[in-house]
Amino acid sequence: MAELRSDALVLRSRDWREADRLVTLLTRDAGKVTVLARGVKKNKSKFAALVEPLTLGRYLMHRGKSMETLIQGEIIKPYFSLHQDLLHYATAQYFCELVERSLPQNEPAGAVFTLLVAALEILEKDANPARVARCFELSLLDELGFCPALDGCFCCGQQISPAYFDFTHGATVCSQCPRSHDSILISGAAVAVMKRFLKQGFHRLSICSVSATVNTEIGRVCAGAFRTSLGLTEIKSRVFLASVEKVETVRSTI
Ligand SMILES: [Zn+2]
Repeated sequence: MAELRSDALVLRSRDWREADRLVTLLTRDAGKVTVLARGVKKNKSKFAALVEPLTLGRYLMHRGKSMETLIQGEIIKPYFSLHQDLLHYATAQYFCELVERSLPQNEPAGAVFTLLVAALEILEKDANPARVARCFELSLLDELGFCPALDGCFCCGQQISPAYFDFTHGATVCSQCPRSHDSILISGAAVAVMKRFLKQGFHRLSICSVSATVNTEIGRVCAGAFRTSLGLTEIKSRVFLASVEKVETVRSTI
């Protein structure tokens, strides 16, 4: 029987029948796979910790016709620190949902695996999860082949600021050129930060200053890009993250 052995991160884990769980893994070698973990809800199951969301491990699976079955595994890193802070946890869950919904099943996505693990490593250390989130969103769009075009106006080529971001074309456009109805205003500062994120990724992210306004602008561009390029709407973890961010903002002003 065919087997798959790979490092993987648990993107999602949900109950299945009485004692089982269906686990969505992002594997290093085979992309997104769905694995049946039998008996995991029974007391003393050795698989219980292995199938917790945000667990990085080494997994051995039987490859079935419609899904894989977990045989064994070992934990590399459970990312405990991300579970201990609601804002960081909500951000990590958002990363996982974006990846889960962006990738097809069983198609190699080694670069996305590397990106997601790198994002969780940075998120653990960064006191500004929103900055990590914007950098991750752009990097993921880039990896998936939907990188926003930010080098001047896509129509006339001029470097004009402020400009618009046109979701139909996935590019910036100046105020003089025609643009689609699906466009938003974007500042030169936001474009500059996005270019920095795309060029340097998470490298020295902690010294990259991103104002709340610029963060909001980049968040809108990314949300629109995921919507138009990948059809991602109603991202539940994004809604939850926004509510957590709101509470944190209120708390910080008291
Ligand atoms: Zn133009």
